[in-house]
Amino acid sequence: MSEEICPKCGSPLGEITETPTGKKLQRCSTGSWNKETRKNEGCDYVKWLTVEPQELDEKCPKCGSPLVLQVTRFGKKMKKCSTGGWDASAKKATGCDYVEWLTGTKEPLDSDCPECGEKLVLFTTNSGKKAEKCSTSGWDAKEKKATGCTYIKWLKPGEIPVSSAGEEFLPPEPQEP
Ligand SMILES: [Zn+2]
Ligand SMILES: [Zn+2]
Ligand SMILES: [Zn+2]
Repeated sequence: MSEEICPKCGSPLGEITETPTGKKLQRCSTGSWNKETRKNEGCDYVKWLTVEPQELDEKCPKCGSPLVLQVTRFGKKMKKCSTGGWDASAKKATGCDYVEWLTGTKEPLDSDCPECGEKLVLFTTNSGKKAEKCSTSGWDAKEKKATGCTYIKWLKPGEIPVSSAGEEFLPPEPQEP
């Protein structure tokens, strides 16, 4: 692994860690996350590692180029055109601008599924509705059917459990295109 140096304080960067939603980050080795106080201690430099976009077997409806699957910091997924890019110096989008957001985000919860005992996840639809779902539930895109446990409970506002993952307290990622 490369010996990277913190641009803030000059100490080496620590190990690569993964958030509960699967995003990777690297902290300054002199900084740490205190779960008790929910505050950063020491140097607060965090480097977010880019998740490589995954090429999909689908074509862009606008220009016919292949689509890629990209995951944002909050675990939201989108399909975008592989010819689309971001010109950092000009601060503008380049190429094809086709983007399709995929339904729903998931956050891990501390409670267990009443049906199978596995962990629950908090599921948020694109329209902002929330539900508790079993973490073993999934979707088989080939067979076009649900897999795993089918437990789901839709939540009314006020019933929404707070995730203890602490991810929302992490410093923001650099601007995404
Ligand atoms: Zn540092
Ligand atoms: Zn396109
Ligand atoms: Zn279950």
